[in-house]
Amino acid sequence: MRSKIIRLVKPYKFEEQIRVYKKKKGWSYVKPTLGSICAADMRYYTGKRRPEALKQKLPMALLHEGIGRIVESETLKKDTRVVIVPNIPGYIHSPEKFPSPEKCCRACRHGEIGENHCENIHFLSSGYDGLTQSIIQHPDPCLIQIPDDVPDEIAVLSELSTVAYTGAKKLKLLDKNEKIAVFGDGPVGYIVAVVLSFTKTIKRHNLYVVGTDDEKLKKFGDFAHTINIRKRAIPSNLRFGNLFECVGGIYSEEAINTIIDVAEPGAWIYLLGVSELFVPVNTRDILEKGLRLIGISRSSRFEYPIILEYMREPEMQRLLKRVIINRFFRIRSAKELTEAFDFAAAHRVWGKIYVRLEIS
Ligand SMILES: [Zn+2]
Ligand SMILES: [Zn+2]
Repeated sequence: MRSKIIRLVKPYKFEEQIRVYKKKKGWSYVKPTLGSICAADMRYYTGKRRPEALKQKLPMALLHEGIGRIVESETLKKDTRVVIVPNIPGYIHSPEKFPSPEKCCRACRHGEIGENHCENIHFLSSGYDGLTQSIIQHPDPCLIQIPDDVPDEIAVLSELSTVAYTGAKKLKLLDKNEKIAVFGDGPVGYIVAVVLSFTKTIKRHNLYVVGTDDEKLKKFGDFAHTINIRKRAIPSNLRFGNLFECVGGIYSEEAINTIIDVAEPGAWIYLLGVSELFVPVNTRDILEKGLRLIGISRSSRFEYPIILEYMREPEMQRLLKRVIINRFFRIRSAKELTEAFDFAAAHRVWGKIYVRLEIS
């Protein structure tokens, strides 16, 4: 099967190319239809990744958050709407090398670690071509059918929502009324807070979001308490046993060290924010309080059916919609993709930028 593919060849430069797929048993052909731009895609586009990473990974098609329709498949009907799970563990993409999860790696062997941490992972738009293709070939276990009552634009958020759920499901409340903190008022913090409040039924009075921008914090108001840390410190009677760091970037250091300050003894700290730099943290207090830091990255295919089920709820849809910005970009060419990415780079809008994929 021939596919027209738009690849990033170097920062700020997309190129249209042809990719030819050979039929593979257990893999389907899917037409990507709708996607959203991730901060990770932007780091490639604007050349913010380390030079070695750029050299190693480009040229590459971007986008890993998205859905499509089945074109040809042994197991799924033509035109079925599916989420394209970007994370393909080793035992699925190379069964001749890793015949079973047990033979792949420690993460795949032990479910509780999660195959999102697979050592042999292939991840779309991170070393492997992403969704900006007319047709993509993808393994059947990583194509998840979308329930009829989940609209396209909500289903696109399942990648981010499953990452949030990967953290949420590790939540450990030692007391019923413990308070939970989410640091970060960006889209990741928002989705983490929504997913916590839905999948873990965290009541508003137990959920605190810490950010730096009143306008952004307003969006959390109907399901969480908010604190603008630039205006007031976290009150000394407010301490947390579970804390989610969704800041990343240059503010990681400040966020993580504030989290350590307001963590209770034995607290769990879930790190979701990505930083390209090493981050100095206050290890003295980590030791003294016996804090547990857990890295959360990506999600596995097993989280998707669970999240898509939650996404059927109208209230969940209402809250998730808030994270989608109004303007949708239509992508038929490298030029149109450049316009979308230039818009994303120039406007620091709060929310997810969507692209309708119409490459043919
Ligand atoms: Zn992403
Ligand atoms: Zn593995």
